[in-house]
Amino acid sequence: IPPVHVIGGGMAGSEAAWQLVQAGVPVVLHEMRPVRGTEAHQTEHFAELVCSNSFRSDDHEYNAVGLLHEEMRRCGSLILACADEHKVPAGGALAVDRDAFALAVTAKLTAHPLVTVVRDEVAGLPPEEWDSVIVATGPLTSPALAQAVLDLTGEAQLSFFDAIAPIVHFDSIDLSKAWFQSRYDKVGPGGTGKDYINCAMDKAQYEAFIQALIEAPKTEFKEWEKDTPYFEGCLPIEVMAERGLDTLRYGPMKPVGLTNPHDERRPYAVVQLRQDNALGTLYNLVGFQTKMKYADQTRVFRMIPGLENAEFARLGGLHRNTFLNSPRLLDPTLRLKAASRLRFAGQITGCEGYVESASVGLMAGRFAAAERLGTTLPTPPVTTALGALLSHITGGAEAETFQPMNVNFGLFPSPEERDARGRELRGKERKLAYTRRALNDLAGWLGAD
Ligand code: FAD
Repeated sequence: IPPVHVIGGGMAGSEAAWQLVQAGVPVVLHEMRPVRGTEAHQTEHFAELVCSNSFRSDDHEYNAVGLLHEEMRRCGSLILACADEHKVPAGGALAVDRDAFALAVTAKLTAHPLVTVVRDEVAGLPPEEWDSVIVATGPLTSPALAQAVLDLTGEAQLSFFDAIAPIVHFDSIDLSKAWFQSRYDKVGPGGTGKDYINCAMDKAQYEAFIQALIEAPKTEFKEWEKDTPYFEGCLPIEVMAERGLDTLRYGPMKPVGLTNPHDERRPYAVVQLRQDNALGTLYNLVGFQTKMKYADQTRVFRMIPGLENAEFARLGGLHRNTFLNSPRLLDPTLRLKAASRLRFAGQITGCEGYVESASVGLMAGRFAAAERLGTTLPTPPVTTALGALLSHITGGAEAETFQPMNVNFGLFPSPEERDARGRELRGKERKLAYTRRALNDLAGWLGAD
């Protein structure tokens, strides 16, 4: 069987390659790191997590991304298997030791007899003799390849901006001021109800902090970047601060469900830190993505009570995000309409997030495998998280205003089930109806596979 070429060994490319070889189809996996780096990756490992170490909620009954985790597990996902193996305590979330996780993915792929790894940049359109290609080069697709895709599709623009959050050394956090507690003491799988470190602020401290955020010098945009919009789900904190004095108190700094044991007063605002590695030596500032200049980040974040002497393992930053107008450019199985030998996967298709990217890789891998083996694979039902996301990016979304999307129940058709009085289900019951239907329908799809 001739190989399928997968370009990019990130979240999507790793999963796509795995699905192909599970179906018996050989893969040539092209990854440019370490020959050529990106603005955010720091290692040469496959599936490196460039910012947060969280795969978000692992609740598959009431949460859409938790459901996506479960669907991927049932599809034999490499990314989920390695994440489960290397998880760290994070309340109800699935968070991982980033190095152990990436090393596990790398080891599985490089050891597989059907995988050939080529460490090189594909710096333009793939050669014509590669008759089946999955492009999974992510939000930081190298400029030469991005330009080639731009030329091929005739699109005007493929990029917008996101920002990343800083990481602190645990032993530099002052626990005589900060404390361990999960919001509402929630105990997630493997958790203790004390999975986060919290730093409380009173009103005066909060207002001074907001002022400092607004005044701090920020990384300048280049002239051509000025019109590039932000993704709303990942706004820099200083942009949120500028929107109003209380915006952060209703967002990442909300004080609810937390009691400061060092002080009887109710906190006015709280900064949360989440464990970033299995050793527990690193913690990231939750929701604190920023484009403040490095020296100013250190100064401003040390205003947080408990972080006065914080040492930063990594500071926050700004990054480019390259994605296609997929509703216009891709067919239902992720092939480029203008060149069907090219299939796309991951964030470049306009999904958002580690899990979503890997899940689109999973589907691309399965579609490419079926094609190579001369069979047909229907698209997953739109009632599943996989199908809902796929259907959104390949046609359901409005092409004119297309922006990267996290999985959410809004992408699913409403549940048919009704309550005892014949009304549409609401709240938790509605979520449960979505997730039960999804897992049931997924079983049908896997059966058909
Ligand atoms: P990637 O994981 O980036 O993989 C793409 C791979 O392709 C890379 O290894 C790259 O080196 C390689 N590559 C690129 N061009 C070429 C080429 N021409 N030839 C060969 N190889 C190439 N999502 C979250 O859920 N949580 C977060 O906290 C988060 N933070 C982010 C922070 C930053 C700075 C960025 C850029 C993105 C962030 N995302 C986050 C969004 C997104 O989910 C991740 O970027 C995710 O890794 C995307 O998966 P992917 O497989 O599409 O791309």
